[in-house]
Amino acid sequence: MNILLLGAGGREHALAWKLAQSPRCTTLWASPGNPGIADVIADLNAHRSGTASGACTAIDLADHAAVEAFCMAQDIGLVVVGPEAPLVDGLADSLRAAGIAVFGPGKAAAQLEGSKGFTKDMCTRAGIPTAGYVRAKSAAEAHTALAGFSLPVVIKADGLAAGKGVVIPQTAEEAAATVDDMFGGAFGGAGAEVVIEEFLEGEEVSLFALTDGSAIALFGSAQDHKRVGEGDTGPNTGGMGAYSPAPVLTAELEARAMAEIIAPTVKAMADAGMPYSGVLFAGLMLTADGPKLIEYNCRFGDPECQVLMMRLDSDLVDLLDACARGELAEAAAPSLRPESAITVVMAAKGYPGTPASGGMIANLAAAEARGAKVFHAGTAAPSEGVLVAKGGRVLNVTAAGANLRQARDRAYAALAEVRFDDGFWRSDIGWRELARQP
Ligand code: ATP
Repeated sequence: MNILLLGAGGREHALAWKLAQSPRCTTLWASPGNPGIADVIADLNAHRSGTASGACTAIDLADHAAVEAFCMAQDIGLVVVGPEAPLVDGLADSLRAAGIAVFGPGKAAAQLEGSKGFTKDMCTRAGIPTAGYVRAKSAAEAHTALAGFSLPVVIKADGLAAGKGVVIPQTAEEAAATVDDMFGGAFGGAGAEVVIEEFLEGEEVSLFALTDGSAIALFGSAQDHKRVGEGDTGPNTGGMGAYSPAPVLTAELEARAMAEIIAPTVKAMADAGMPYSGVLFAGLMLTADGPKLIEYNCRFGDPECQVLMMRLDSDLVDLLDACARGELAEAAAPSLRPESAITVVMAAKGYPGTPASGGMIANLAAAEARGAKVFHAGTAAPSEGVLVAKGGRVLNVTAAGANLRQARDRAYAALAEVRFDDGFWRSDIGWRELARQP
């Protein structure tokens, strides 16, 4: 099967790496891809595809007709969408209308990530445990609603805001100013409506499930590290590292989350005439009353995807294709090895502000010789054999082990081999769980 993978980050490199391991993947294309994905494709071309050969190619993902034309020209049997923006923008609907199988939800279902208010209303209808909330369409409504919440309170821009649209004010003055900022356009169109939520106490964990709109398959758990600094300090980032599984989500809590949150969501979406297919990435808070939904994402997490792929035993093409075709019930359940996996993000100095661009990167083969896998995120290869940084998060050094400590030691030993003078990373990825382990 010819496969087109959309996206350019470490998440997509991990997906490409796993897709290419499937005997069903004859040719892999990526748009735009990155140098790590280009290496995966070059290997595949050399060993598998015979006459056909894939490549990284630049297609304008906002131009649905162009993506469709590419799929037709290259006889693409499956499109795998990495990031949320093309899904929220309805690319999956356009491609499906043209008869092309797509892994990822259509526009209506992608509202689970694209509109926080939509998701909260869905939770109310389906009786899904989540924080109490009010949707406000104007600053006046929001100020009135704030009176009904105790502090701290959670204020969210309704739409996509690249992980920055959530503020947790500690004082009434700060809360009022946040509302004014949001309606004043601090988050552009994403803040045209806000959701005000009750603050939940607990530990956060990510749960992943595959679904084709009716059948559901558990795909494992992870915990990430959002803050840029050691000990979870400093500004938020896209994620500085992750590990899987997250033992804090015990088998019992996982089963509760599947039964009380994931399954009713899939049913509610189908009942509403907008069946959700793809991966459901639930951000959960483990409260004293059990797991509660904080948010949904309509795609794999980055960097959580890297650790899930590291543990995945199953054929990824079989799973994603079954979701895309509505045949998940007939597919074998996803199998993740019971080992631990960890990924450490190497970022360019300056991130999450303006990252230094163009820093030289070397010695990745020596790092991988230590038993790790180095996924590329923001890299560029300006000429043969030269690799430089191009972006905030640059590399994801990923390793597995019999337990988290072993995986962590392996990842950091590999990371020590990487030459990236413009880079920095957190040295404490996994700290919360490691502190709990003997
Ligand atoms: P991202 O996509 O970066 O995960 P987001 O912008 O989609 O974030 P949320 O995940 O809804 O927004 O919220 C971001 C963070 O704010 C959460 O990871 C959590 O730490 C915190 N948060 C959100 N809602 C609540 C809540 N009700 N109680 C306590 N903390 C919350």
